[in-house]
Amino acid sequence: MAAFGRSSVFVVCIAVFSTLLLQNMHHDAMLEGIPSGKTRVLDLSYAINDKLVPWPGDGKFFEAKVNATIEKNGYFTRSFWMLEHYGTHLDAPAHFPPGKTTVDQIPVKQLFGPAVVIDVRAESGKDPDYQLGTARVEDWEKRHGRIPEGAIVLLRTGWALRWPDVQKYRNQDAQGKMHFPGFTVDAAKLLVKRKVSGLGCDTLSIDTLSIDYGASEDFAVHHISLGAGLYHLENLADLSELPETGAFLIVAPIKLEGGSGGPVRVFALLP
Ligand SMILES: [Zn+2]
Repeated sequence: MAAFGRSSVFVVCIAVFSTLLLQNMHHDAMLEGIPSGKTRVLDLSYAINDKLVPWPGDGKFFEAKVNATIEKNGYFTRSFWMLEHYGTHLDAPAHFPPGKTTVDQIPVKQLFGPAVVIDVRAESGKDPDYQLGTARVEDWEKRHGRIPEGAIVLLRTGWALRWPDVQKYRNQDAQGKMHFPGFTVDAAKLLVKRKVSGLGCDTLSIDTLSIDYGASEDFAVHHISLGAGLYHLENLADLSELPETGAFLIVAPIKLEGGSGGPVRVFALLP
């Protein structure tokens, strides 16, 4: 019995070691395959222009001006102005207290990580106020294993199909209240416990804004996750080609000193 116990421990150790080794080899091969086109890379960011869906109430959100033209100056330049939270963007922890880190201060290692994709398109299709609960996170873990530390958790609601239709994307009711899916506070707490690096979604915000008693108006999820040092990725482009597990994300926000957030380029390397 004792000999069997020892050998089983040995077998388990070998299995864990080989899995880690395979994962590393897998990630190396993924990176090496980018230039040759062997690794597919998805760009999960929308191009920035003045026709994206802004947060309601933001009067001015983007402006670009031509400063020099080939005809006049021999070269072409523009200047632009935009909100920090417009289009595909990152919310830095400093966006909501007790979060402290500004966008330029987010540790680089937090910007790379395995993608955990939680697919709630069916639920969101039936209920625009759908909120991801802990049961659904645990269900993902039953199928794919515990969410690894440093993962970036993406909520796939299918809302990207409504982009850039302002009315469909914001989905405001007669009172002006928006209806789109998001995370529950409990799910955010669980993901903070898993030590993930960030949360992302293909909607205007991680928080749902539709709860009648106004609980959502305090942006509860924002306070919990940003307060714990995570960042948020909002208005991500179509996530439909991402597998639930196995993709790797590269998150490259603007390095804007003191910024509460800013435009972000997000790449997914597909397995
Ligand atoms: Zn934001």
